[in-house]
Amino acid sequence: MSSALVISPVFKSCAHATDSSGAGAYSGNGMQLSYKPYELELTHVFTLAGSSRRTTPVMLTQIHFEGFTGYGEASMPPYLGESHQTVEAFLKKVDLTQFKDPFQLEEIIEYIDGLAPGNYAAKASVDIALHDLVGKLMKQPWYKIWGLNPQKVPDTSFTIGIDTPEVVKEKTREAAPYNILKIKLGHDTDKAMVEAIREITDKPLCVDVNQGWKDREKALDMIYWLEEKGVVFVEQPMPVEAIEDMAWLTANSPLPTIADEALQGPADIQKLYGVYDGINIKLMKCGGMRAAHKMASIAGGMNMKVMLGCMTETSCAVTAMAHLGHLAQWADLDGNLLINNDVFDGLRVVKGKVILPERPGIGVVPV
Ligand code: MG
Repeated sequence: MSSALVISPVFKSCAHATDSSGAGAYSGNGMQLSYKPYELELTHVFTLAGSSRRTTPVMLTQIHFEGFTGYGEASMPPYLGESHQTVEAFLKKVDLTQFKDPFQLEEIIEYIDGLAPGNYAAKASVDIALHDLVGKLMKQPWYKIWGLNPQKVPDTSFTIGIDTPEVVKEKTREAAPYNILKIKLGHDTDKAMVEAIREITDKPLCVDVNQGWKDREKALDMIYWLEEKGVVFVEQPMPVEAIEDMAWLTANSPLPTIADEALQGPADIQKLYGVYDGINIKLMKCGGMRAAHKMASIAGGMNMKVMLGCMTETSCAVTAMAHLGHLAQWADLDGNLLINNDVFDGLRVVKGKVILPERPGIGVVPV
């Protein structure tokens, strides 16, 4: 389970030119950020509608303050455009030593957000570590700070990638502990994928098309077929730019439609109203827990569905997101389950149910 950290044994401290006097330069009461690149190894080759891969780069962050350490993480799947290099370049700009009070989350996160446009995973790595730190200072887990019931986190789905029917059946057998499965569609093998799974199990399925369907009439036919097969929602069925087609599809679809690639952060939700039935919130898209909480609140207030998603991540970021579970109808929090070199102990999945750690902050412990 535990594994050596492969790339760098030492966390790089986020030193600044003005703090070059060596040891003791951070002896004030400000916070100190450090970070370390790491490479996650996927148990199975992961295939989406556009690409396949075996590893995912992440950046592990820590914020130190008054003897406490907050843990964070950036995950950089290649299609989002961030990398070890871009995240490190961003984190070098971050000077948390100027902040003497970690509880000023709004101010600190506004500062982080203003350092550069984009860089959402890099920003999330600071935001998550900051939340972990503040929860530890408060001696409470975030679900409690937010007033949320950890028993109401939806069962997580487990993702089965696009593959041959035989491999899909094998992966479905391996997914026996989970109560809901997620499948990646958008190839010409869609029906064969679903039928292969249905030979093994009648568990509810959710479907992520990753923009793979181009024709709305065919998409609607497919959704009716999927409904008969026990599918519960369809995520990002059509291209992001196909707004009118998507609104038509949502109006006619017997299943809820969920936006994923079509949104980034809180400001995008309003334009999706009437186009999709719900949103998939991911920490690496929106920039962290603070933005994710805002998004869940906004969507809930607009009577839109909320799904919590993740990238391939360690238990750090996945557990951070699970604290919001009570605000969601669906959870797809399996990123840590798809890797074989996790470096944190955090949420547990027992018979498909998400069990949040009863520890302060986000509740993860390095292994
Ligand atoms: Mg998706």
